[in-house]
Amino acid sequence: MKERLRKFMVGRYGADELNRFLTICGWVLLLAGFVLSSIQKNATQILGSLMVTLSWALLIWSIFRTLSKNTQKRASENYQYFVYKNKVVSWWKQRKTRWQDRKVHRYFRCPQCRATVRVPKGKGKIRITCPHCKNQFVKKS
Ligand SMILES: [Zn+2]
Repeated sequence: MKERLRKFMVGRYGADELNRFLTICGWVLLLAGFVLSSIQKNATQILGSLMVTLSWALLIWSIFRTLSKNTQKRASENYQYFVYKNKVVSWWKQRKTRWQDRKVHRYFRCPQCRATVRVPKGKGKIRITCPHCKNQFVKKS
């Protein structure tokens, strides 16, 4: 049995980070969908069955990716997933630092290059020089 499974999986893509993510999302959605559809209200029942359908789609997608023989395409999807995940994670980290920092610093966006500039708080109107493009703009800190 183990040998047959091994032979079956030869040349197939197998599991990766994106598949793990899809599987977890799928199960969470499936459970939440079941809970919602058991509530006796039309709107939540519709939402619940939509979530169950979506969860099936995610689970089937992850199985398809595991069994796929187009490993290059799957690997590049996984890479895209990492790029996107990193963006989300660093955005959250930035939110967190800004929140912890909110009494000491203010953050502005440079109107020219859209870079984020951090300045000390409570200094009144100040001229800010963007460290990236040297553009100057006036803001109340
Ligand atoms: Zn700038």
